[in-house]
Amino acid sequence: MNLKLDPAIGCRYTNTSQIVRVMTEHWCANNLSCPVCGHHKISQNQNNTPAVDFNCRECKSNYQLKSRKLWNNSTITDAGYEAMIKSIKGNSRPHLLIMGYTTDSYVNNLMLIPYFFFSETCIQKRKPLSPNAKRANWVGCNIKLDLIAPEGKIMIVENGNEIPHSKIIQQYSRITGIAEFSLESRGWLLDVFHLTSQYGNREFTLREMYSHEAYLAALHPDNKHIKDKIRQQLQYLRDQNLIEFLGRGVYKRRIE
Ligand SMILES: [Zn+2]
Repeated sequence: MNLKLDPAIGCRYTNTSQIVRVMTEHWCANNLSCPVCGHHKISQNQNNTPAVDFNCRECKSNYQLKSRKLWNNSTITDAGYEAMIKSIKGNSRPHLLIMGYTTDSYVNNLMLIPYFFFSETCIQKRKPLSPNAKRANWVGCNIKLDLIAPEGKIMIVENGNEIPHSKIIQQYSRITGIAEFSLESRGWLLDVFHLTSQYGNREFTLREMYSHEAYLAALHPDNKHIKDKIRQQLQYLRDQNLIEFLGRGVYKRRIE
């Protein structure tokens, strides 16, 4: 993997965002293997599918690329709020690749967020544009990366270092069971999974998890049995080998 973006690729364009887009897309098409199946490359999408920049000819996974000069671990600005929520509810999101590049055009960070780690919880509605704006009253959104469990943020390049491909594939494969959950139950699972991540690799108790009852009740106002739901998600996470039950209401995340 050559981490340098090729400036010659963008020279036909004058608009900065277009230059960045062609340079970063060119880089991905020439350097990235498919993080899902390991196929040696991902190809630029030839169809006009909205929000899909690449696909893997082998496993048919779709990818969207977003690039930023300033790397931000907590938030990334995205396009329309309604379109985002619709794609989550329609289970039609591509995997998201987020690239951070340096001022001298090196790929410094590249993160994969599998499509099944998106839920309404991590999408923040932005303020509508002013009535005088070109797109009056349009509402964009932010993706709150800090509300996504670390297992759903797979680094491909981290601080200028390439992560071994075998590690990427292994990290992806240990979370694929989450994609099998229905959309509604996946929302709960992701929320509880994210909450367990604040305990890092220390043990935590059911009582500690219950302390998030009000937060979860606000996210799921129709559910009146929050504690039951928490216990159920912990069982699902154990079944997925993502946490361990140590007995007597004590749990631990499995960190690999
Ligand atoms: Zn693939």
